[in-house]
Amino acid sequence: SNVRKPMVAGNWKMNGSLALLHTFISELKASPLLDTVLCLPYPYLAAASKASFKVGAQDCSQFGAGAHTGDIAVGMLQELGATYVIVGHSERRQDHNESNIAVALKVQTVLNAGLTPILCVGEPLKVREAGNVNKFVFEQLQAVIDVCSKDFLEKCIIAYEPIWAIGTGKTASPEQAQEVHQFIRTEIVKWNHNAVSTRLLYGGSVNASNAHALFAKPDIDGGLIGGASLKIDDFIAICNAVK
Ligand code: PEP
Repeated sequence: SNVRKPMVAGNWKMNGSLALLHTFISELKASPLLDTVLCLPYPYLAAASKASFKVGAQDCSQFGAGAHTGDIAVGMLQELGATYVIVGHSERRQDHNESNIAVALKVQTVLNAGLTPILCVGEPLKVREAGNVNKFVFEQLQAVIDVCSKDFLEKCIIAYEPIWAIGTGKTASPEQAQEVHQFIRTEIVKWNHNAVSTRLLYGGSVNASNAHALFAKPDIDGGLIGGASLKIDDFIAICNAVK
């Protein structure tokens, strides 16, 4: 849509290397036509401070500081130049038992620090097969609304990532993705009319071949890219697919 600047955000997960990061810094150039973001493992953030693209983390603590061994505070991410934080990725929800409430508290912490959360929502296959996608996604959003004021909706990015499509090579069709994006758009605009400008990203096996058709849908404002964000040529091709 012309009211929303497209965004392509890579999520390296627990992959990559400093050498790969240096390749990205020299070859991936920011464009005025979109926001290009790379969400890196924590140890690589400092090395990305001179990149022309924007940098994000993949999680952060819900707490500002304190006795939380092994956790990372959002203020530390900010010191390293990160401006985005993925919150509630399905792998965090699964591997670390992150509840909807914990995710909501993290969104609040990131917003309070002045960074932009990329809030991930999306259903497992069983929920889709049972026809309950909208209800499931609504409850994930409602949990955040219950904790954060409704103006969070105009300050965050929302990524719709059906779990059955993440890392599986099984992409939602552009129509399936648009259907959920349209539902999310309708609901968030009911909560806060300024959310008409909130970017909604699709994530789940986006690649250089399928990106264009997904990004052409009216409520899909870009993508959150896992596997294909580790290959410089593929990632550049996906960035070019929004133009
Ligand atoms: C992700 O991890 O957010 C993701 C969408 O992964 P992939 O593109 O590999 O499916």
